[in-house]
Amino acid sequence: MSTKRSLLLLPGDGIGPEVMRQVRRVIDWYARKRGIEFAVEEGLVGGCSYDAHGTPLTDETMARALAVDAVLLAAVGGPKWDNLGFDKRPEAGLLRLRKEMELFANLRPAKVFDALVDASTLKPDVVRGLDIMIVRELTGGVYFGEPRGITDLPNGERRGVNTQVYDTHEIHRVARVAFELARKRGNKVCSSDKGNVMESGLLWRQEVIALHKAEYQDVELSHMLADAAAMQLVRNPKQFDVIVTDNLFGDILSDEASMLTGSIGMLPSASLGATDANGKRKALYEPVHGSAPDIAGRDLANPIAMFLSFAMALRWSFDLQAEADVLENAVENVLNTGLRTGDIMQPGMAKVSTSVMADSILREMDKVAAA
Ligand code: NAD
Repeated sequence: MSTKRSLLLLPGDGIGPEVMRQVRRVIDWYARKRGIEFAVEEGLVGGCSYDAHGTPLTDETMARALAVDAVLLAAVGGPKWDNLGFDKRPEAGLLRLRKEMELFANLRPAKVFDALVDASTLKPDVVRGLDIMIVRELTGGVYFGEPRGITDLPNGERRGVNTQVYDTHEIHRVARVAFELARKRGNKVCSSDKGNVMESGLLWRQEVIALHKAEYQDVELSHMLADAAAMQLVRNPKQFDVIVTDNLFGDILSDEASMLTGSIGMLPSASLGATDANGKRKALYEPVHGSAPDIAGRDLANPIAMFLSFAMALRWSFDLQAEADVLENAVENVLNTGLRTGDIMQPGMAKVSTSVMADSILREMDKVAAA
């Protein structure tokens, strides 16, 4: 029986296959240079799956995603499929993966590399050295709560209804992810809610406090109303380490935090499910960016968000912390040498293609690993 770590690669559409091709080289590097082997399968998701099979995700690929240790997805979508019905659209494949894998915790790091400090719209002093993690609840709250819908009223008006609802276990499992993460980082969690005006927010706060008291007293816990957190994220983002919040506020705060870095081609993410009896967790890793149809097929895409997504997989699915450091440090060193893809180009730097950026990072991995 193979003891290899298993990976399902879903390159998807647009620039997806281009950046995934480069990640395959990184995966091969770990096998060749570090003796860390992955059993790698590849599948279709999104528009390419629709073209081949008439559906954005086949049952077979879904089953593979449920069976492997980690799924690495690049991006889906593009103008070619924009007019399809909702259930045939590329994004439906992604939503099905998230739903059936029960990925309830979405991790979005916002890290500012020194070399890119000027890419942020905020002052360099505010963002230099920034390294925060937003943990967003992903499968509950107002996006899924019932009742929901639009109804006609007797007076001729219409009413739109959504329901914000959280049960104890939903709050505990995502807060647990945040506390565990914090222990491996700066050991601080800030929980964000609107407990001043929403009962669901009050419950959120009470349950986070209860879990902290029972299991995580070694982690520093604070609370901040979501509107205040939105302000503090642009005023003084470095005060945070891990922020945990619900689906709605997390949607907004994670986008706000990621933009502190100023470069979408650099941002990875992870979505985690529950740990099973064998200690294994379902997990999907993907860049924050989309399929960038405007630059697809031209060797222009920045592969770094995809690389950093794989580094998150090394960290969170395979507990290969030192190996993740090798990749992340190599990315940082290459940026320090002044190489840039078009999306992060700055005056005085050298503009390179997707493949040259990947070549350089792979060469740098040799150096970092040898050091
Ligand atoms: P996008 O992220 O694809 O592109 C936004 C801009 O950023 C574009 O100018 C693009 O060229 C640039 N960009 C993005 N990633 C880059 C990279 N790695 N390197 C260099 N430049 C990069 O967002 P969009 O244009 O709003 O959407 C395009 C398609 O992607 C749509 O079909 C959308 O539905 C889909 N999309 C998919 C995902 C996903 O798969 N998770 C996320 C967002 C959008």
